[in-house]
Amino acid sequence: MNSQPEQLSEEAFAVRVREREKEARSRYEAHRRTWGEGVPHFSEGTFEFWQRLAEGQFHIGRCTQCSHTYFPPRVICPNCWAADAVELVASKGTGRIFSYTVAHRVANSLQSLAPLLMVCIDLDEGVRMFTWLRGAQGDAQLVGKRCRVSIETILGRIRFVARLAE
Ligand SMILES: [Zn+2]
Repeated sequence: MNSQPEQLSEEAFAVRVREREKEARSRYEAHRRTWGEGVPHFSEGTFEFWQRLAEGQFHIGRCTQCSHTYFPPRVICPNCWAADAVELVASKGTGRIFSYTVAHRVANSLQSLAPLLMVCIDLDEGVRMFTWLRGAQGDAQLVGKRCRVSIETILGRIRFVARLAE
């Protein structure tokens, strides 16, 4: 049996591994310039999202296979399960509060800000997302209110939160 195709395949595989390692190093350097050493660590599916967020742009994910839009961006499409099929789409970040809850127990790094008002938002692009609402008190009047995503530096880190629309 001719083993040529298998050897070519191994070469192609090795090239691909080297390319991926180079991309990973490049991402790591970009990450370090923006976020410094240590946490946060981002997956391949969210790295670009966070880099753009640091530049002041908010994005949602769209599947290149089935066109489903979703948030947060991730490696596997939640609709058709295609892998590595996410592309980022600019979002206005405006929407309406679908639901909310008050979180008294939160991640240790955010405990000094507790309680947090966690909101579920229906973005105008038709995507539902989850984040926290700043500058408002929790009451039943929040449901249905217009809000917008706001990119802010909180406790020394760039984050996306929501604020009620003016
Ligand atoms: Zn899909």
